[in-house]
Amino acid sequence: MADGAIANNSAPLIDQFGRHITYLRLSVTDRCDLRCSYCMSEHMTFLPKKDLLTLEELEHISNVFIDRGVRKIRITGGEPLVRRDIQHLFTRLGGRLSDGLEELTLTTNATLLEHHAQTLFDAGVRRINVSLDTINPDRFREITRRGNLDQVLRGLDVADQIGLKIKLNAVALKHQNCADLPEMISWAHGKGWDITLIEVMPLGDTGEDRFDQYIPLTEVRDQLSQNWTLNDLPSDDINGGPSRYSRVAETGGRLGFISPLTNNFCAGCNRVRITCTGRIYMCLGQNDCIDLRAALRESDDPTAALNEALDAAMINKPERHEFEIKKKGAAPHLDRHMSTTGG
Ligand code: SAM
Ligand code: SF4
Repeated sequence: MADGAIANNSAPLIDQFGRHITYLRLSVTDRCDLRCSYCMSEHMTFLPKKDLLTLEELEHISNVFIDRGVRKIRITGGEPLVRRDIQHLFTRLGGRLSDGLEELTLTTNATLLEHHAQTLFDAGVRRINVSLDTINPDRFREITRRGNLDQVLRGLDVADQIGLKIKLNAVALKHQNCADLPEMISWAHGKGWDITLIEVMPLGDTGEDRFDQYIPLTEVRDQLSQNWTLNDLPSDDINGGPSRYSRVAETGGRLGFISPLTNNFCAGCNRVRITCTGRIYMCLGQNDCIDLRAALRESDDPTAALNEALDAAMINKPERHEFEIKKKGAAPHLDRHMSTTGG
């Protein structure tokens, strides 16, 4: 049990629709060294550092979640590896891998992976998600508005050699990377890595019209099927995961599809998200949230206050998201960026 946790609160987190919450996505910063055109605006304003949870607070919250049945924690952001001293949080949470936690992982853009891969492995991380939308260097720079693809590829190679299992995530962008996807999928499968495609979601103003970026994955799949045989694999529902996987007969690799807009997957949702400022969002696509930072900082018994806040969160978890991208020029569905909520 976590230091300071009250002895009797190991009650599982179950929401009003009977869904067990066993997966926490924890954002540790809203900052990033890239400015992906679907995620952030070019001149993004970041939060003052004092608003962010400290590493100790992030650990305290995680421990309370683990005590209440969370089995998987994904560290995310912003770019988690740009947060100073983040390795300490991985090491501390890694200590709970034999004590309640089953998986500690992260989602990263891999720009700093080369330097962090060994520490992550030593902390107990075994699988990582890397976001990469193209392996064309010019297009990579265009989509990320500044990135250097070589740096990312070096990070991937180092992580692979160390023994971290890699899964790639690529957001499908109608005009920017759709034409590159077959090459990238073949490349990833050649390396032995799964790759998942994601529909762009209308979160936060990025200075780009989501209508121009959005392409339904049904369309992408149809295009890929003209040259490849995609055999559906059994649903990933047991993990509450939103990805639907196919095996590509020609490459032998697994290709996932996350389609929040064309295929709502909320019924099996087992996750909640915490922002770097300590707000818990029960649904990526809804605005209801509860302030855990206040519970931590303003109560005489922060662990009890956190547990109370989590009980309230379970009552408030909505049934489903309501994303849509139907009109050119429409405001984003939510004014919150994915980088703040933790993608
Ligand atoms: N910086 C890290 C990275 O890029 O992997 C972690 C945070 S990032 C916000 C997490 C994931 O959210 C990435 O895979 C990114 O592609 C995805 N993402 C960001 N904005 C999105 C959007 N509007 N629609 C769909 N996916 C988005
Ligand atoms: Fe940064 Fe990740 Fe957002 Fe790209 S998707 S701008 S890498 S936080």
